Amino acid sequence: MVRPRGKIDVVCQNIKCRYYLKETGKDIIKSGKYRTGHQRYYCHHCQTYFMETKGTPLYRKQLSEREIILICKLLVEKNGIRSIERITGHHRDTIGRLLEDLAEHAQKMNDYLIHDLDLAQYECDELWSTVKKNRKRLSTTAQLGLKKVMPGSTPV
Ligand SMILES: [Zn+2]
Repeated sequence: MVRPRGKIDVVCQNIKCRYYLKETGKDIIKSGKYRTGHQRYYCHHCQTYFMETKGTPLYRKQLSEREIILICKLLVEKNGIRSIERITGHHRDTIGRLLEDLAEHAQKMNDYLIHDLDLAQYECDELWSTVKKNRKRLSTTAQLGLKKVMPGSTPV
């Protein structure tokens, strides 16, 4: 596949942009760095600069958006961390950290999964219940995030 602008895994972070969190049709370039050392990006659609670390778990460096989407789909199908490790070849710690991030940003991720990945609500529920099964690994922040999308759940 040809990616003329090079591999950029981030999507626009400007909520007012038509391409907010959208992979398809995005027009983003790298544009220098912040003083903190974070990569700075620029969206041609809304003419806004943003930082890669802002926002949802999709901006973790270790995994590309495509890989995160794959893992989300595997979670919907009730695959555990070990089976995801086997399928994707990513170490279980990496996957564990992703689950942590997903849970922490659960509400935002829920919107993303439904609007951008066309998952149904019940599929998201499957995903969160799979994440919840691994909650021993989750921090308090992550468990609180999970609680927002799973009203019935209680922190450990
Ligand atoms: Zn934009």
